[in-house]
Amino acid sequence: MYCFIHTDTEAAAVCKKCGKAMCHNCSAYSGNTGICPACRKEEFENERSQNYIYKKQEIKGIVVAAVIALIVLIIGIVFMTWGDYFLYAGLIVLGVGIIVFTVIFVKKSRLLKSYIDRIVYLTQEIEKIDKALSLGVAQI
Ligand SMILES: [Zn+2]
Ligand SMILES: [Zn+2]
Repeated sequence: MYCFIHTDTEAAAVCKKCGKAMCHNCSAYSGNTGICPACRKEEFENERSQNYIYKKQEIKGIVVAAVIALIVLIIGIVFMTWGDYFLYAGLIVLGVGIIVFTVIFVKKSRLLKSYIDRIVYLTQEIEKIDKALSLGVAQI
């Protein structure tokens, strides 16, 4: 039995997912997880799609926070124009609005960055597997 990617190499294992035979190199490439590079690629692609969804959610969260912050700021400014007594209320509203927005923004942008980093990493890995699969060489 030969590796389904490296057709002149003796197979060393069978993929747990698709049942195809694979060589030592292919097995090692998948971190000896027991799945072949093709199935590994599929897993990476699924994970990447999931990360695209997470990324979108974080961007949406930032936009919503910005819109709410803007409304709060407008309310604060309107308060301040109502005279001395409302000046303090206006300042408090402004302060709270800015703090809340900053906290949400920092939290969401950190998550956003982690999803983007993961997408970049997964894309590189997928390209690597693609190259190896198309060449059919042992250099993966
Ligand atoms: Zn497989
Ligand atoms: Zn192989």
